Amino acid sequence: MSRVNAYSGKKIALILDTGALLAKYYRYAPRIKVDIYTTDSAVNEVKDQENKSALIEALELRLIHVEKPGRTFVIKIMEIAKAIGCLHKLSITDVEIAALSLQLRKEYSEVVVVTDDYELQNLLSYMGVSFKPLRTRGIEDLRVFKAYCPVCGYTPGKPSEDTCPLCGSKITRRNLLR
Ligand SMILES: [Zn+2]
Repeated sequence: MSRVNAYSGKKIALILDTGALLAKYYRYAPRIKVDIYTTDSAVNEVKDQENKSALIEALELRLIHVEKPGRTFVIKIMEIAKAIGCLHKLSITDVEIAALSLQLRKEYSEVVVVTDDYELQNLLSYMGVSFKPLRTRGIEDLRVFKAYCPVCGYTPGKPSEDTCPLCGSKITRRNLLR
């Protein structure tokens, strides 16, 4: 069996979040069995000149596939994230990274998200998607929360929603596994 055939059908999809793009993780990944992905939202968050030109060069060399996840996967992630009380703590980019992981699970035997974001790591753990931290150790225990407004009981249903739209109080949450 040739080395090339040994890997066919066993490629890993590596999804880089904004932090992983800033760490230029695309330069260090083992390319022989890995396809590297990110979302257009993450690409747009890389703003400083040095990182941006390095990223543009990598995109021109086709080292990274840029995808926009399908609407059905985004909606699915919003539902799951809301159910475990982390949707309001996630950015749109986090939601799209997680959605892309679900989408690529249909094409790859293994999908790994490279991220240092604890909220995103927790969501991925809950869904059974692998992740790899860049610098931090990564979360140790799965956390499931109930997120709510402590004053009026409103439950946040949108990413980055840290304030209650009805009464203006700060959204809080309770760990349901403790
Ligand atoms: Zn409220």
